[in-house]
Amino acid sequence: MQQGKINVQTENIFPIIKKFLYSEHEIFLRELISNAVDATQKLKTLAALGKFSGDISDLTILVTLDKEKKTISIKDKGIGMTSAEVDKYINQIAFSSAEEFVKKFKTKSESEMNAIIGHFGLGFYSSFMVSDQVELITKTYQKRGETGAVRWECDGSPNYSMDESDKADRGTEVILHISEDSKDYLEEHTLLGILKKYCKFLPVPIQFGTEKSWETVEGEKDADGNDKSVEVEKPRIINNTDPIWKKKPVDLKDEDYKSFYRELYPYTFDEPLFWIHLNVDYPFNLTGILYFPKVKRNLEVQKDKIQLYCNQVFVTDSVEGIVPDFLTLLHGVIDSPDIPLNVSRSYLQSDPNVKKISNHITKKVADKLEGLFKDSRPDFEAKWDDIKVFIEYGIISQPEFYDRAKKFCLLKNVDAKYFTMEEYAAHVSPAQKDKDDQLIYLYATNQHEQYSFIESVKDRGYDVLMMDGILEAHFINTLEQKLEKTRFTRVDADTVEKLIKKEDVLPSKLSEDQQKLVKEMFEKQIDTKKFNLTFESLSEKELPLLITQNEFMRRMKDMSALGGGGGYSFMGEMPENYNMVINSNSPLIGKLLAETDGDNQTAIVKNLFDLALLAQNMLKGKDLADFIRRSTEKLG
Ligand code: ADP
Repeated sequence: MQQGKINVQTENIFPIIKKFLYSEHEIFLRELISNAVDATQKLKTLAALGKFSGDISDLTILVTLDKEKKTISIKDKGIGMTSAEVDKYINQIAFSSAEEFVKKFKTKSESEMNAIIGHFGLGFYSSFMVSDQVELITKTYQKRGETGAVRWECDGSPNYSMDESDKADRGTEVILHISEDSKDYLEEHTLLGILKKYCKFLPVPIQFGTEKSWETVEGEKDADGNDKSVEVEKPRIINNTDPIWKKKPVDLKDEDYKSFYRELYPYTFDEPLFWIHLNVDYPFNLTGILYFPKVKRNLEVQKDKIQLYCNQVFVTDSVEGIVPDFLTLLHGVIDSPDIPLNVSRSYLQSDPNVKKISNHITKKVADKLEGLFKDSRPDFEAKWDDIKVFIEYGIISQPEFYDRAKKFCLLKNVDAKYFTMEEYAAHVSPAQKDKDDQLIYLYATNQHEQYSFIESVKDRGYDVLMMDGILEAHFINTLEQKLEKTRFTRVDADTVEKLIKKEDVLPSKLSEDQQKLVKEMFEKQIDTKKFNLTFESLSEKELPLLITQNEFMRRMKDMSALGGGGGYSFMGEMPENYNMVINSNSPLIGKLLAETDGDNQTAIVKNLFDLALLAQNMLKGKDLADFIRRSTEKLG
């Protein structure tokens, strides 16, 4: 028997590993199974090269739990190790990086440690996070030279022992003697949950226990004449070794993509809108499938659904900083050996490979969208309402994406017609330029609530855009910065006359004194404090009294309600900013001025006010009930 002290001075490094290696101790299982998968893949490669001719028909990795003995074991049929290799890889290399970790640990703060943790190949030693004692029993695949099996054992102190073993079959078994404070891992469902999380798509079958299922018996019938079936107990394989993102797109059908989507998100009922199969091997390696999901009203619930893999090993599903923010709304998987495992988020975000991957994904998404747009504009338009949130989010958050997206980003008007940006500018240019040559895009955010405003704008021959998405206020702001001499104004932001200011101003039919009189009438009858009262010489056909909402103030308020992105949240509760515009040319205002009966004056003012409120959906509660009662009485 060889006994030795792992090459570290007096220090016992294991308590430190236990405490600080990973905040999630469950990672030990991922690390050990990854090692088992690597050893198996190496054997397959050797076999493919003709350097190994033994049996490789069953390479299943076996995970077993023994609650009584308090052990978890991971057993592979991979290349195994000779005793010299155990000495080299486990005692020296793996350990020295553990030791280096501890040395660095002493000189650096915890947050610095978190950032550099991935640089240590601490895979195997992570087993000490959960174990009092670890055994490793291994037999090499090699036929020449020293081929006996080896048993290595370490109890968490720097002392290990190495001995011969009678293990007959090729491969490695790691047996963890789980410590008291980690005994949760001895629960079958806990272990199964961790396996499903990290190992669901590993390329070598992994068996954990057995499961029962029903199987039909060939040629036999039951009493009712149906095919006879019996309950059989079969190995429970926890992974799909051949996930579709590793296959070639030409070999896949739509149904394959859809069923994989269901496999990834068993609790999602909606089908994806479409998907992008990523397949890059230069200048970095990347595969994956990104799905465009049906968008929910609440964007947060669908964020962070992309799963990140490194060679089919699950790394994380929190991809913020790894893919551009707007793409975190997508679903699917990204797999790249160039995404470093075991590193902290902040490290990942600054990793140059990760940056390249992120840019590449953005480009691919833009390619796909542009392709869809070019291939079939009608299909693209049909999908637009569902995909516009991704595109708007991209435009708001990523300047490079805008440069691509401006070709296929659509604007939809209230008549449900779609325009590209260029088409729309051409469409409205003739009628909607103001006296300063600014192009004014008029929009509505709610077709029903703003109906009367939309109609009067359309009567003028103007076009109205439908901007009813979740991100619209931010999106409009971004577009105003991108588009030259173009401004957005909601249909109720001003009177029709002033929404697009032209040169020809009508003369007012009211003198200043008369205006003063009318103003007093209003102030006497109604509470005008909330409003900014003004007179305007609109056409006679326009309403006598109109409530409008200042575009700038309203948009700021919408943005702060939405939070994030615009940086306006600091403004807190924004004041309402409504204008009350009296049309000095309306015959009804003339009539009000001529009215001598006080009761009639009151009635006209109140009704005008209530009607203006109604048009803005601002007449509510008691005021609305009173208005209905008064109007009904008048009919009688
Ligand atoms: P890493 O996997 O990052 O190299 P580890 O500490 O996990 O670091 O493992 C150290 C080395 O021990 C591996 O590189 C490999 O050579 C060897 N090893 C670990 N587990 C196995 C195994 N199951 N079969 C064969 N070799 C193994």
